[in-house]
Amino acid sequence: MELFKGINQIKLPLPNASLDSVNVYIIEGASGNLMIDTGWNTPECFNALAQEMKNSGFAMKDITDVVITHIHPDHFGLAGKIAELSGAKIMAGEIENGLLDSRYYHPEDLMQQMSAFLKANGVPDWELKMLTEASLNIRNNISPVKAITTLKPGDKVSMDPFEFQVLLTPGHSPGHICLYEPNKKYLFSGDHVLAEVVPNISYHPQSGENPLGDYVNSLNSLAELEVRFVFPGHGSVFSGLAPKIDDIMHLHRDRMRGIQKVMGVEMKSGYDVAKNIPWIVNGETVQYDKLEPIDRRLALLETLAHLQFMTAEKQGKKVTEGEKTVYWSGE
Ligand SMILES: [Zn+2]
Repeated sequence: MELFKGINQIKLPLPNASLDSVNVYIIEGASGNLMIDTGWNTPECFNALAQEMKNSGFAMKDITDVVITHIHPDHFGLAGKIAELSGAKIMAGEIENGLLDSRYYHPEDLMQQMSAFLKANGVPDWELKMLTEASLNIRNNISPVKAITTLKPGDKVSMDPFEFQVLLTPGHSPGHICLYEPNKKYLFSGDHVLAEVVPNISYHPQSGENPLGDYVNSLNSLAELEVRFVFPGHGSVFSGLAPKIDDIMHLHRDRMRGIQKVMGVEMKSGYDVAKNIPWIVNGETVQYDKLEPIDRRLALLETLAHLQFMTAEKQGKKVTEGEKTVYWSGE
């Protein structure tokens, strides 16, 4: 569907995922077409993409360039297949590109690190394997890409008459990028800012020490941009970036107040905190124990991101006792 002149949006289904679709954008240029993000490498996603492209008058070979905002499977999954079918140049941020091998092609070491990390943060033995392997299935929704051109902050991606600036916006993923078109004042935000949901920010072995701090900083840097429309990776296109950023910050602050309440003055593991705060799934409040394994892991890693942020802001302390990590909100 053409939203604005030269800006097409295609929604692809993500069955059984917490977000039910992902947005792919096709930007029409004078001498090529740029695709932003791609969808899962599943027959359902690929067939929907091919059909929707056809309806909008595009063939696969019309795609000359692809930019990936971050390497999560719903954004990166079909990149390899699209490169193969179209010959398009695939571009991704430098940091994200550096994570591909450890995350998808040779994940054994990372799986071990994740298992040790979850255990240290309080996951009991009976749940450990389940949470460690929770993303294995989704990991399969990736088609390998032979060559990726890396993008650095400040790089330009030209698709005449559009010219996009690459913005590094870490938080949801360590090397997440957004594309900003300064003449039209369009922001392609990936999963950095969404209209309907607050993006997940996780602390994990590859996230850096304070991913929520990184996220807040990169949100603040966006607040200085003049933006007319935001084109997110999921959900609706929207205007009003600044109030949306305020909303997101407000929700994070609320969450941290809730965490502080649960913690009291006792030392607790991230797992004990996650188990005792409410989680919202499809608008309903659900306890941790009732979540699916993948959502439990996301809940724990998100709780840890908040605890790490609170520690960095001196609103709490992190203590390592032997192989266990606990947090403390007391003095
Ligand atoms: Zn996503």
